[in-house]
Amino acid sequence: MPQTFTQLLNAMPTTRLAPSPTGALHLGNARTFLANWLLARERGWRIILRIEDLDGPRIKRGADQQAIEDLQWLGMDWDEGPIYQSSRRDAYAKAVRRLIEGGFAYPCICTRKEVDLAASAPHAEDGAAVYPGTCRGRFASIEAARNASGREPAIRFNVGTEIVEFVDQVRGSQRFQMARLGDFVIQKADLTPAYQLAVVVDDGEMGMTEVVRGNDLIDSTPRQIMLYRALGLADRIPNYWHLPLVVGPDDRRLAKRHGDTRISHYRERGVPASRVLELLNRWLRIDSKQTESIVFTADDDAFLRAVD
Ligand SMILES: [Zn+2]
Repeated sequence: MPQTFTQLLNAMPTTRLAPSPTGALHLGNARTFLANWLLARERGWRIILRIEDLDGPRIKRGADQQAIEDLQWLGMDWDEGPIYQSSRRDAYAKAVRRLIEGGFAYPCICTRKEVDLAASAPHAEDGAAVYPGTCRGRFASIEAARNASGREPAIRFNVGTEIVEFVDQVRGSQRFQMARLGDFVIQKADLTPAYQLAVVVDDGEMGMTEVVRGNDLIDSTPRQIMLYRALGLADRIPNYWHLPLVVGPDDRRLAKRHGDTRISHYRERGVPASRVLELLNRWLRIDSKQTESIVFTADDDAFLRAVD
């Protein structure tokens, strides 16, 4: 039987560029986007541009357009999108309901402060307390949780005693004891879907086969794999590529304290895109398999600014 065009498209290797309009694109995330884009264009993957704009209070007005312009200025393009996550809330709500009904997720009425105080487990690498499981099996329904606290509960995914293994395309075999990461939030108390859930619902539905991102998100991958399985999407788990982050000379993730490294900043100063690309390409030649991070030095900054 002949395949429809949609079926053909969905069978294609596919990746996404997924900027979050919570801040401007800087040299560090530009490197990750460029690596993703180059891999895609070299290997013939379809590229979807997805704007991850669910983090309400942190979203900056106009940052989505700015990210799009910055990516284009650096010469990147895409085959589909932009698709805004904020337009897909129904799909996320449906997945959350399904996970609750399937017994994979439960309501949690703990405040952040309570979680911090109650945490006995070692703290996760990102400094967040590991949720101690206070509300696991505590409420018969969302209604019951709401009545107990007088407010809307968050929804957490129960990781149980699972051990999740996967092979990262850059970093090789990975193994996570999920109890050490703890039950994670899939829907916040303000009914906003959490990052982990939205990404899996989108990636699953959009036929994503390749996920390329910074290695600060490697802890997210086993959580997302558990979500794929619980949502009956185990056959759609993509390949993951976790790339080293760009850090400052103090070995901390590139941020404001290292000066203004926004792409738009250099652009407004009249630094040509070719100059920025030259630095990004130099960083791309650093073997991602061999290094945890790439250091942005004062020399790099001077190189960008030295426009004659
Ligand atoms: Zn709780």
